[in-house]
Amino acid sequence: MEAILTRHLDQDNPQNLAAYQATGGYRSLNTAFDLKPEKIIETVEAANLRGRGGAGFSCGMKWRLRGADAPSPRYLVCNLDESEPGTFKDRYLLYGAPHAIIESVIVSAFALQAERAFIFVRGEYAKGGHRLIQAIREAETAGLLGRNLGGSGFDLHIDVHLSGGRYICGEETAQINAIEGKRPNPRPKIPRPSTHGLWGQPTTTNNVETLVNVPHILMNGAEWFRRLGINGGCGTKLFCISGKVKHPGVFELPCGTPARELIYKHAGGLDNDERTLLGFLPGGASTPFLLPQHLDVPMDFDPVAEAGSRLGTGSLIILDDTTCPIETVLNLTRFFARESCGFCTPCRDGLPYLVQILNAIATGNGSADDLALLDELCSTIATQSFCAFAPGAVMPLVSSLKDFHEHYEQHIITQRCPFDASRKEAV
Ligand code: NAD
Repeated sequence: MEAILTRHLDQDNPQNLAAYQATGGYRSLNTAFDLKPEKIIETVEAANLRGRGGAGFSCGMKWRLRGADAPSPRYLVCNLDESEPGTFKDRYLLYGAPHAIIESVIVSAFALQAERAFIFVRGEYAKGGHRLIQAIREAETAGLLGRNLGGSGFDLHIDVHLSGGRYICGEETAQINAIEGKRPNPRPKIPRPSTHGLWGQPTTTNNVETLVNVPHILMNGAEWFRRLGINGGCGTKLFCISGKVKHPGVFELPCGTPARELIYKHAGGLDNDERTLLGFLPGGASTPFLLPQHLDVPMDFDPVAEAGSRLGTGSLIILDDTTCPIETVLNLTRFFARESCGFCTPCRDGLPYLVQILNAIATGNGSADDLALLDELCSTIATQSFCAFAPGAVMPLVSSLKDFHEHYEQHIITQRCPFDASRKEAV
Protein backbone atom coordinates (compact mmCIF):
# COMPACT_ATOMS: atom_id res chain seq x y z
CA MET A 1 0.00 0.00 0.00
CA GLU A 2 1.19 3.48 -0.83
CA ALA A 3 1.82 5.50 2.36
CA ILE A 4 1.03 9.15 1.93
CA LEU A 5 0.37 10.51 5.41
CA THR A 6 3.37 8.79 6.94
CA ARG A 7 5.66 9.19 3.92
CA HIS A 8 7.55 12.10 5.40
CA LEU A 9 7.72 10.97 8.97
CA ASP A 10 11.26 11.64 9.97
CA GLN A 11 11.48 11.22 13.70
CA ASP A 12 15.24 11.86 13.90
CA ASN A 13 15.26 15.14 12.04
CA PRO A 14 11.73 16.43 12.07
CA GLN A 15 12.43 20.08 11.30
CA ASN A 16 14.86 19.59 8.48
CA LEU A 17 13.50 21.59 5.58
CA ALA A 18 16.20 20.42 3.16
CA ALA A 19 15.50 16.74 3.95
CA TYR A 20 11.78 17.33 3.51
CA GLN A 21 12.26 19.08 0.17
CA ALA A 22 14.66 16.36 -1.02
CA THR A 23 11.80 13.84 -0.74
CA GLY A 24 9.38 16.00 -2.74
CA GLY A 25 8.19 18.24 0.08
CA TYR A 26 6.61 21.62 -0.83
CA ARG A 27 6.32 20.62 -4.51
CA SER A 28 2.53 20.91 -4.36
CA LEU A 29 2.81 24.68 -3.85
CA ASN A 30 3.70 25.31 -7.50
CA THR A 31 0.95 22.94 -8.63
CA ALA A 32 -1.54 24.82 -6.43
CA PHE A 33 -0.47 28.31 -7.47
CA ASP A 34 -0.90 27.34 -11.15
CA LEU A 35 -4.53 26.42 -10.46
CA LYS A 36 -7.59 28.52 -9.69
CA PRO A 37 -8.67 28.09 -6.03
CA GLU A 38 -12.09 26.79 -7.18
CA LYS A 39 -10.35 24.05 -9.18
CA ILE A 40 -8.53 22.85 -6.04
CA ILE A 41 -11.81 22.78 -4.10
CA GLU A 42 -13.45 20.85 -6.95
CA THR A 43 -10.60 18.28 -6.93
CA VAL A 44 -10.75 17.81 -3.15
CA GLU A 45 -14.52 17.31 -3.35
CA ALA A 46 -14.16 14.81 -6.22
CA ALA A 47 -11.59 12.89 -4.14
CA ASN A 48 -14.27 12.38 -1.45
CA LEU A 49 -11.86 13.43 1.30
CA ARG A 50 -13.89 13.17 4.50
CA GLY A 51 -13.04 14.87 7.81
CA ARG A 52 -10.53 12.81 9.78
CA GLY A 53 -11.20 14.62 13.09
CA GLY A 54 -14.15 12.29 13.67
CA ALA A 55 -17.26 13.66 11.98
CA GLY A 56 -16.43 12.55 8.40
CA PHE A 57 -18.00 15.63 6.81
CA SER A 58 -16.87 16.15 3.20
CA CYS A 59 -13.86 18.49 3.21
CA GLY A 60 -14.48 19.70 -0.36
CA MET A 61 -18.14 20.39 0.38
CA LYS A 62 -17.24 22.34 3.53
CA TRP A 63 -14.85 24.46 1.48
CA ARG A 64 -17.34 24.98 -1.36
CA LEU A 65 -20.21 25.88 1.00
CA ARG A 66 -18.08 28.64 2.55
CA GLY A 67 -18.39 30.42 -0.82
CA ALA A 68 -15.78 32.08 -3.02
CA ASP A 69 -17.28 35.51 -2.30
CA ALA A 70 -16.85 35.24 1.52
CA PRO A 71 -15.66 38.63 2.83
CA SER A 72 -12.04 39.18 3.95
CA PRO A 73 -10.34 38.55 6.26
CA ARG A 74 -10.89 34.80 5.93
CA TYR A 75 -9.34 32.30 8.28
CA LEU A 76 -8.26 28.68 8.18
CA VAL A 77 -7.89 26.75 11.44
CA CYS A 78 -5.93 23.51 11.44
CA ASN A 79 -7.22 21.50 14.39
CA LEU A 80 -4.38 19.64 16.09
CA ASP A 81 -6.04 19.45 19.47
CA GLU A 82 -6.67 15.71 19.48
CA SER A 83 -7.77 14.70 22.96
CA GLU A 84 -10.16 11.85 22.29
CA PRO A 85 -9.17 8.86 24.49
CA GLY A 86 -7.35 6.23 22.45
CA THR A 87 -6.50 8.77 19.75
CA PHE A 88 -2.83 9.59 19.19
CA LYS A 89 -2.51 9.88 15.40
CA ASP A 90 -2.17 13.66 14.93
CA ARG A 91 0.70 13.58 17.39
CA TYR A 92 2.70 11.49 14.86
CA LEU A 93 2.21 14.11 12.19
CA LEU A 94 3.16 16.95 14.55
CA TYR A 95 6.33 15.36 15.88
CA GLY A 96 7.28 13.55 12.68
CA ALA A 97 6.34 15.81 9.80
CA PRO A 98 5.89 19.48 10.75
CA HIS A 99 6.74 20.65 7.23
CA ALA A 100 4.05 18.39 5.75
CA ILE A 101 1.57 20.16 8.04
CA ILE A 102 2.80 23.59 6.94
CA GLU A 103 2.68 22.62 3.25
CA SER A 104 -0.88 21.34 3.61
CA VAL A 105 -1.97 24.50 5.44
CA ILE A 106 -0.46 26.72 2.70
CA VAL A 107 -2.17 24.82 -0.12
CA SER A 108 -5.51 24.65 1.73
CA ALA A 109 -5.39 28.34 2.70
CA PHE A 110 -4.71 29.18 -0.94
CA ALA A 111 -7.76 27.15 -2.02
CA LEU A 112 -9.85 29.06 0.52
CA GLN A 113 -8.04 32.36 -0.15
CA ALA A 114 -7.54 32.64 3.62
CA GLU A 115 -4.83 35.14 4.41
CA ARG A 116 -4.29 33.95 7.98
CA ALA A 117 -4.14 30.44 9.39
CA PHE A 118 -3.98 29.12 12.93
CA ILE A 119 -2.69 25.72 13.93
CA PHE A 120 -4.32 24.87 17.26
CA VAL A 121 -2.05 22.42 19.06
CA ARG A 122 -3.03 20.27 22.05
CA GLY A 123 -1.44 21.72 25.22
CA GLU A 124 0.20 18.42 26.14
CA TYR A 125 1.97 18.39 22.75
CA ALA A 126 3.92 21.54 23.70
CA LYS A 127 7.30 20.22 22.52
CA GLY A 128 5.80 19.40 19.12
CA GLY A 129 4.16 22.83 19.04
CA HIS A 130 7.51 24.52 19.60
CA ARG A 131 9.09 22.39 16.86
CA LEU A 132 6.27 23.43 14.55
CA ILE A 133 6.95 27.11 15.30
CA GLN A 134 10.61 26.58 14.39
CA ALA A 135 9.61 24.86 11.15
CA ILE A 136 7.31 27.80 10.31
CA ARG A 137 10.21 30.22 10.83
CA GLU A 138 12.35 28.07 8.55
CA ALA A 139 9.65 28.08 5.86
CA GLU A 140 9.32 31.87 6.20
CA THR A 141 13.07 32.35 5.81
CA ALA A 142 13.03 30.15 2.70
CA GLY A 143 10.23 32.30 1.19
CA LEU A 144 7.70 29.46 1.33
CA LEU A 145 5.48 31.50 3.64
CA GLY A 146 4.76 35.22 3.73
CA ARG A 147 3.89 37.66 0.96
CA ASN A 148 3.16 37.00 -2.71
CA LEU A 149 3.81 33.27 -2.46
CA GLY A 150 5.30 31.81 -5.66
CA GLY A 151 4.47 35.10 -7.42
CA SER A 152 0.76 34.26 -7.07
CA GLY A 153 -0.14 37.47 -5.25
CA PHE A 154 -1.32 35.33 -2.30
CA ASP A 155 -0.11 36.25 1.21
CA LEU A 156 -0.26 33.89 4.18
CA HIS A 157 0.67 34.17 7.82
CA ILE A 158 0.51 31.08 10.08
CA ASP A 159 0.23 31.28 13.89
CA VAL A 160 0.54 28.36 16.28
CA HIS A 161 -1.88 28.48 19.23
CA LEU A 162 -0.83 26.18 22.04
CA SER A 163 -3.97 25.05 23.89
CA GLY A 164 -4.51 25.61 27.60
CA GLY A 165 -5.25 21.86 27.59
CA ARG A 166 -8.93 20.94 27.74
CA TYR A 167 -10.81 18.33 25.66
CA ILE A 168 -13.56 20.81 24.74
CA CYS A 169 -11.02 23.07 22.98
CA GLY A 170 -11.08 20.52 20.12
CA GLU A 171 -14.72 21.39 19.35
CA GLU A 172 -14.54 23.93 16.54
CA THR A 173 -16.64 26.72 18.09
CA ALA A 174 -15.00 26.34 21.53
CA GLN A 175 -11.67 26.46 19.71
CA ILE A 176 -12.66 29.72 18.04
CA ASN A 177 -13.42 31.21 21.47
CA ALA A 178 -10.07 29.92 22.75
CA ILE A 179 -8.16 31.52 19.86
CA GLU A 180 -9.99 34.79 20.52
CA GLY A 181 -8.74 34.56 24.11
CA LYS A 182 -12.14 33.77 25.62
CA ARG A 183 -13.32 30.92 27.84
CA PRO A 184 -13.65 27.90 25.51
CA ASN A 185 -17.40 27.33 25.80
CA PRO A 186 -18.92 26.02 22.57
CA ARG A 187 -20.94 28.54 20.56
CA PRO A 188 -24.27 27.86 18.86
CA LYS A 189 -23.65 25.93 15.60
CA ILE A 190 -25.82 28.33 13.60
CA PRO A 191 -24.66 30.66 12.15
CA ARG A 192 -21.85 28.37 11.10
CA PRO A 193 -18.21 29.32 11.61
CA SER A 194 -17.82 29.18 7.82
CA THR A 195 -19.64 32.53 7.74
CA HIS A 196 -19.39 33.76 11.37
CA GLY A 197 -16.21 32.34 12.88
CA LEU A 198 -13.11 34.03 14.29
CA TRP A 199 -13.94 37.66 15.12
CA GLY A 200 -17.19 37.19 13.16
CA GLN A 201 -15.34 36.43 9.91
CA PRO A 202 -15.48 33.37 7.58
CA THR A 203 -13.51 30.59 9.25
CA THR A 204 -12.89 27.05 8.06
CA THR A 205 -11.71 24.42 10.56
CA ASN A 206 -10.22 21.13 9.43
CA ASN A 207 -8.45 18.37 11.32
CA VAL A 208 -4.72 18.16 10.61
CA GLU A 209 -4.89 14.62 9.15
CA THR A 210 -7.57 15.80 6.71
CA LEU A 211 -5.37 18.67 5.52
CA VAL A 212 -2.20 16.58 5.15
CA ASN A 213 -4.02 14.64 2.40
CA VAL A 214 -4.60 17.75 0.29
CA PRO A 215 -1.12 18.21 -1.29
CA HIS A 216 -1.16 14.52 -2.33
CA ILE A 217 -4.59 14.87 -3.90
CA LEU A 218 -3.42 17.91 -5.85
CA MET A 219 -0.26 16.20 -7.09
CA ASN A 220 -1.91 12.90 -8.03
CA GLY A 221 -5.56 13.65 -8.71
CA ALA A 222 -8.93 12.78 -7.21
CA GLU A 223 -9.24 9.38 -8.88
CA TRP A 224 -5.83 8.26 -7.60
CA PHE A 225 -6.85 9.21 -4.07
CA ARG A 226 -10.19 7.41 -4.26
CA ARG A 227 -8.43 4.23 -5.42
CA LEU A 228 -6.17 4.19 -2.33
CA GLY A 229 -9.16 3.05 -0.28
CA ILE A 230 -10.77 -0.39 -0.26
CA ASN A 231 -14.31 -1.71 0.26
CA GLY A 232 -15.76 1.61 -0.91
CA GLY A 233 -13.45 3.81 1.21
CA CYS A 234 -11.38 6.65 -0.29
CA GLY A 235 -7.76 7.41 0.59
CA THR A 236 -5.81 6.11 3.54
CA LYS A 237 -6.40 6.61 7.25
CA LEU A 238 -4.24 6.76 10.33
CA PHE A 239 -5.77 4.07 12.55
CA CYS A 240 -4.82 4.02 16.24
CA ILE A 241 -5.08 0.65 17.96
CA SER A 242 -4.79 0.31 21.74
CA GLY A 243 -6.01 -1.90 24.57
CA LYS A 244 -5.56 -5.66 24.73
CA VAL A 245 -3.42 -6.18 21.62
CA LYS A 246 0.19 -7.28 21.14
CA HIS A 247 1.36 -4.28 19.12
CA PRO A 248 -0.62 -1.13 19.87
CA GLY A 249 0.22 1.81 17.64
CA VAL A 250 -0.64 4.00 14.67
CA PHE A 251 -1.05 2.33 11.27
CA GLU A 252 -1.60 4.06 7.95
CA LEU A 253 -3.90 1.75 5.99
CA PRO A 254 -6.56 2.03 3.30
CA CYS A 255 -9.87 3.51 4.39
CA GLY A 256 -12.25 0.55 4.54
CA THR A 257 -9.75 -1.95 6.01
CA PRO A 258 -11.81 -4.43 8.06
CA ALA A 259 -11.43 -4.38 11.84
CA ARG A 260 -10.28 -8.02 11.78
CA GLU A 261 -7.22 -7.11 9.68
CA LEU A 262 -6.43 -4.09 11.85
CA ILE A 263 -6.60 -6.04 15.11
CA TYR A 264 -5.26 -9.47 14.16
CA LYS A 265 -2.74 -8.63 11.44
CA HIS A 266 -1.40 -5.14 12.04
CA ALA A 267 -1.76 -4.97 15.84
CA GLY A 268 -0.62 -8.61 16.19
CA GLY A 269 -3.87 -9.96 17.68
CA LEU A 270 -4.93 -10.11 21.33
CA ASP A 271 -1.98 -9.81 23.70
CA ASN A 272 -2.81 -13.20 25.20
CA ASP A 273 -3.64 -15.79 22.51
CA GLU A 274 -5.77 -17.74 24.97
CA ARG A 275 -8.21 -14.87 25.44
CA THR A 276 -11.14 -14.00 23.20
CA LEU A 277 -12.35 -10.65 21.96
CA LEU A 278 -15.12 -9.12 24.06
CA GLY A 279 -15.70 -6.02 21.93
CA PHE A 280 -14.09 -2.81 20.73
CA LEU A 281 -14.71 0.89 20.45
CA PRO A 282 -14.09 1.73 16.78
CA GLY A 283 -13.56 5.48 16.93
CA GLY A 284 -12.19 6.60 20.28
CA ALA A 285 -14.21 6.86 23.47
CA SER A 286 -17.27 8.75 22.26
CA THR A 287 -18.56 5.93 20.04
CA PRO A 288 -20.80 2.90 20.68
CA PHE A 289 -19.17 -0.52 21.08
CA LEU A 290 -18.85 -3.03 18.27
CA LEU A 291 -18.78 -6.77 18.98
CA PRO A 292 -16.91 -9.81 17.56
CA GLN A 293 -19.63 -10.24 14.90
CA HIS A 294 -18.58 -6.84 13.50
CA LEU A 295 -14.95 -7.83 12.84
CA ASP A 296 -15.47 -7.86 9.08
CA VAL A 297 -17.07 -4.41 8.92
CA PRO A 298 -14.90 -2.14 6.74
CA MET A 299 -13.55 0.64 8.93
CA ASP A 300 -15.01 3.53 6.99
CA PHE A 301 -17.62 6.14 7.92
CA ASP A 302 -20.77 4.66 6.35
CA PRO A 303 -20.24 0.91 7.00
CA VAL A 304 -19.43 1.58 10.68
CA ALA A 305 -22.57 3.73 10.97
CA GLU A 306 -24.59 0.91 9.38
CA ALA A 307 -23.17 -1.46 12.02
CA GLY A 308 -24.57 0.88 14.70
CA SER A 309 -21.46 2.79 15.72
CA ARG A 310 -19.24 5.58 14.35
CA LEU A 311 -15.80 5.58 12.77
CA GLY A 312 -14.98 8.75 14.74
CA THR A 313 -11.22 9.20 14.81
CA GLY A 314 -10.57 5.62 13.62
CA SER A 315 -9.09 4.72 17.00
CA LEU A 316 -9.86 1.17 18.05
CA ILE A 317 -9.81 0.38 21.75
CA ILE A 318 -9.80 -3.39 22.24
CA LEU A 319 -11.38 -5.29 25.15
CA ASP A 320 -10.73 -8.98 25.71
CA ASP A 321 -12.71 -11.31 27.94
CA THR A 322 -10.69 -10.30 31.00
CA THR A 323 -11.57 -6.61 30.59
CA CYS A 324 -14.54 -5.52 32.68
CA PRO A 325 -16.70 -3.46 30.30
CA ILE A 326 -18.27 -1.62 33.23
CA GLU A 327 -14.91 -0.56 34.58
CA THR A 328 -13.95 0.55 31.06
CA VAL A 329 -17.11 2.65 30.72
CA LEU A 330 -16.61 4.02 34.24
CA ASN A 331 -13.09 5.08 33.32
CA LEU A 332 -14.29 6.85 30.16
CA THR A 333 -17.23 8.50 31.92
CA ARG A 334 -14.86 9.79 34.61
CA PHE A 335 -12.81 11.38 31.85
CA PHE A 336 -15.85 13.06 30.31
CA ALA A 337 -17.15 14.24 33.71
CA ARG A 338 -13.79 15.87 34.37
CA GLU A 339 -13.62 17.46 30.92
CA SER A 340 -17.16 18.92 30.84
CA CYS A 341 -16.80 22.67 30.37
CA GLY A 342 -19.56 23.19 32.95
CA PHE A 343 -21.58 25.52 30.76
CA CYS A 344 -24.85 23.54 30.85
CA THR A 345 -26.41 21.72 33.79
CA PRO A 346 -27.27 18.28 32.26
CA CYS A 347 -23.63 17.78 31.26
CA ARG A 348 -21.96 19.42 34.27
CA ASP A 349 -24.08 17.67 36.92
CA GLY A 350 -25.31 14.64 34.98
CA LEU A 351 -21.93 13.12 34.10
CA PRO A 352 -20.63 13.03 37.72
CA TYR A 353 -23.94 11.39 38.72
CA LEU A 354 -23.35 8.68 36.09
CA VAL A 355 -19.85 8.16 37.52
CA GLN A 356 -21.29 7.71 41.01
CA ILE A 357 -23.78 5.05 39.85
CA LEU A 358 -21.27 3.23 37.64
CA ASN A 359 -18.73 3.23 40.44
CA ALA A 360 -21.28 1.67 42.79
CA ILE A 361 -22.06 -1.10 40.27
CA ALA A 362 -18.39 -1.74 39.42
CA THR A 363 -17.45 -2.11 43.09
CA GLY A 364 -20.32 -4.44 43.94
CA ASN A 365 -22.61 -1.85 45.49
CA GLY A 366 -25.14 -1.49 42.68
CA SER A 367 -28.87 -1.94 43.04
CA ALA A 368 -31.56 -3.37 40.76
CA ASP A 369 -32.92 0.11 39.95
CA ASP A 370 -29.60 1.45 38.73
CA LEU A 371 -29.89 0.23 35.15
CA ALA A 372 -33.18 2.00 34.47
CA LEU A 373 -31.81 5.12 36.17
CA LEU A 374 -28.67 5.04 34.00
CA ASP A 375 -30.85 4.70 30.90
CA GLU A 376 -33.04 7.63 31.86
CA LEU A 377 -30.14 9.87 32.85
CA CYS A 378 -28.25 9.16 29.61
CA SER A 379 -31.30 10.05 27.57
CA THR A 380 -31.75 13.37 29.44
CA ILE A 381 -28.05 14.24 29.27
CA ALA A 382 -27.82 13.45 25.55
CA THR A 383 -30.92 15.39 24.54
CA GLN A 384 -30.92 18.36 26.93
CA SER A 385 -27.31 19.53 26.75
CA PHE A 386 -25.97 22.40 24.65
CA CYS A 387 -23.28 20.86 22.43
CA ALA A 388 -22.15 17.51 21.01
CA PHE A 389 -19.89 16.77 23.99
CA ALA A 390 -22.53 15.15 26.25
CA PRO A 391 -24.24 13.00 23.56
CA GLY A 392 -20.75 11.68 22.64
CA ALA A 393 -19.81 11.16 26.29
CA VAL A 394 -22.76 8.84 27.00
CA MET A 395 -22.42 6.78 23.79
CA PRO A 396 -20.19 3.98 25.19
CA LEU A 397 -22.35 3.77 28.31
CA VAL A 398 -25.62 3.60 26.39
CA SER A 399 -24.30 0.89 24.09
CA SER A 400 -22.77 -1.05 27.00
CA LEU A 401 -26.17 -1.20 28.72
CA LYS A 402 -27.40 -3.09 25.66
CA ASP A 403 -24.32 -5.08 24.62
CA PHE A 404 -23.09 -5.98 28.09
CA HIS A 405 -26.40 -6.13 29.91
CA GLU A 406 -25.60 -9.52 31.42
CA HIS A 407 -22.34 -8.20 32.82
CA TYR A 408 -24.20 -5.37 34.56
CA GLU A 409 -26.73 -7.83 36.00
CA GLN A 410 -23.96 -10.14 37.19
CA HIS A 411 -22.26 -7.27 39.05
CA ILE A 412 -25.53 -6.30 40.70
CA ILE A 413 -26.71 -9.81 41.60
CA THR A 414 -23.38 -11.12 42.92
CA GLN A 415 -22.39 -7.73 44.44
CA ARG A 416 -18.87 -8.09 43.07
CA CYS A 417 -16.95 -7.69 39.83
CA PRO A 418 -16.85 -11.12 38.11
CA PHE A 419 -13.76 -10.03 36.19
CA ASP A 420 -11.62 -9.88 39.33
CA ALA A 421 -11.30 -13.66 39.27
CA SER A 422 -10.63 -14.01 35.53
CA ARG A 423 -8.03 -11.25 35.72
CA LYS A 424 -6.19 -13.09 38.48
CA GLU A 425 -6.35 -16.24 36.38
CA ALA A 426 -4.91 -14.44 33.35
CA VAL A 427 -1.90 -13.02 35.23
P1 NAD B 1 -20.35 18.03 13.13
O1 NAD B 1 -20.90 16.87 12.40
O2 NAD B 1 -21.28 18.98 13.80
O3 NAD B 1 -19.49 18.91 12.14
C1 NAD B 1 -18.38 18.42 11.42
C2 NAD B 1 -17.82 19.55 10.58
O4 NAD B 1 -18.64 19.77 9.43
C3 NAD B 1 -17.75 20.90 11.28
O5 NAD B 1 -16.61 21.58 10.82
C4 NAD B 1 -19.02 21.60 10.85
O6 NAD B 1 -18.90 23.01 10.87
C5 NAD B 1 -19.12 21.10 9.42
N1 NAD B 1 -20.50 21.07 8.97
C6 NAD B 1 -21.50 20.26 9.38
N2 NAD B 1 -22.62 20.52 8.70
C7 NAD B 1 -22.33 21.52 7.83
C8 NAD B 1 -23.07 22.23 6.85
N3 NAD B 1 -24.36 21.98 6.63
N4 NAD B 1 -22.44 23.20 6.17
C9 NAD B 1 -21.14 23.47 6.38
N5 NAD B 1 -20.37 22.83 7.28
C10 NAD B 1 -20.96 21.87 7.99
O7 NAD B 1 -19.32 17.42 14.16
P2 NAD B 1 -18.39 18.15 15.26
O8 NAD B 1 -19.19 18.43 16.49
O9 NAD B 1 -17.59 19.26 14.66
O10 NAD B 1 -17.37 16.98 15.56
C11 NAD B 1 -17.82 15.82 16.20
C12 NAD B 1 -16.81 14.74 15.97
O11 NAD B 1 -15.58 15.07 16.57
C13 NAD B 1 -17.24 13.45 16.60
O12 NAD B 1 -17.64 12.63 15.53
C14 NAD B 1 -16.03 12.91 17.32
O13 NAD B 1 -15.66 11.64 16.81
C15 NAD B 1 -14.97 13.88 16.99
N6 NAD B 1 -14.08 14.15 18.11
C16 NAD B 1 -12.76 14.13 17.84
C17 NAD B 1 -11.85 14.39 18.83
C18 NAD B 1 -10.38 14.32 18.52
O14 NAD B 1 -9.58 14.34 19.46
N7 NAD B 1 -10.00 14.27 17.25
C19 NAD B 1 -12.29 14.71 20.10
C20 NAD B 1 -13.65 14.74 20.34
C21 NAD B 1 -14.56 14.45 19.35
